[in-house]
Amino acid sequence: EPVVLELEDLAMHYGPVRAVDGVSLQIRRGQVTALVGESGSGKSTVGRCIVRLVEPTGGVVRLAGTDVTHLSRSQMRRHRRDVSIVFQDPAGSLDPRMLVGDVVAEPLRLQGSRLSRQDRAQRVTDGLRRVGLRPEVAKRYPHELSGGQRQRVSIARALMSEPTLLVADEPTSALDVSVQASVLNLLADLQRDIGFACLFITHDLSAVEYLADDIAVMYLGQLVEQGTREEVFARPRHPYTQALLAAAPVADPAKQRARTPVLLGDDLPSAMDPPSGCRFHTRCPVAVPRCAEEVPALREVGGATVACHLVEDDGTGPDIRKTATT
Ligand code: SF4
Ligand code: MG
Repeated sequence: EPVVLELEDLAMHYGPVRAVDGVSLQIRRGQVTALVGESGSGKSTVGRCIVRLVEPTGGVVRLAGTDVTHLSRSQMRRHRRDVSIVFQDPAGSLDPRMLVGDVVAEPLRLQGSRLSRQDRAQRVTDGLRRVGLRPEVAKRYPHELSGGQRQRVSIARALMSEPTLLVADEPTSALDVSVQASVLNLLADLQRDIGFACLFITHDLSAVEYLADDIAVMYLGQLVEQGTREEVFARPRHPYTQALLAAAPVADPAKQRARTPVLLGDDLPSAMDPPSGCRFHTRCPVAVPRCAEEVPALREVGGATVACHLVEDDGTGPDIRKTATT
């Protein structure tokens, strides 16, 4: 499949804060890539750079081969059609003074498409149906809907322009646990039916266990591990990925017990003054002196891409879930 999105050494620095610091990845047509990391890892900023809510300070963003790192006003309009974003909190991202029907139709208006009232209403009805909402919802205000319904409205709006890429930034994290699964399933179904490429941003690895084709793990502005979902879940190589997996809840209680909980704590270092060498060394339970001095390069190791000094070329290395039992 052709490459839809390509990031090359993407950087977003806010003065001294290196929120994103050299991220490279590719997403192919129809592919879902999960971008995973704690809050503060820079993953949302990557999403905002792709949608071009912010202009990257370094590197390149390519969409279907076209450089979209810096865009003119008219190019931006085109870009808004090709790439959509769904945010974490639908309450904050939907204009409370707009009727749902106008919210969903807004991308059509922004594109300057000249549809008759009737055609526009039909598009809105189709858009709402697609996300499991009745057409009558068009005449309601966002605050009259439940959180799950509001997020469905956001998804309907995001898909209105038939984007080639959807950025979903923690789309279920603000929702009741009881509706998270249904919204995740909806996204998965829509992705399979329509076939758009998707960057799914999440702090919760378990949320993407059935959705992602690929997983990219971010720590303090940089990628530390990347691979297929199967590979990352079966053989997480980077100690940080292992910690995230150990912290993720799993449905099967037997499996949960088998996982040693490794608490990362709240001590994420600042992106303003990231630790020397491997940025994870201040929290890594298996760090060696070399880790504070030398930056580990991202490299191919037996089926995945990992940045850790202790991972061998064949992919073997430390497993903090075994060593952290004391
Ligand atoms: Fe831990 Fe060192 Fe590997 Fe970084 S390079 S993850 S500190 S072992
Ligand atoms: Mg975020």
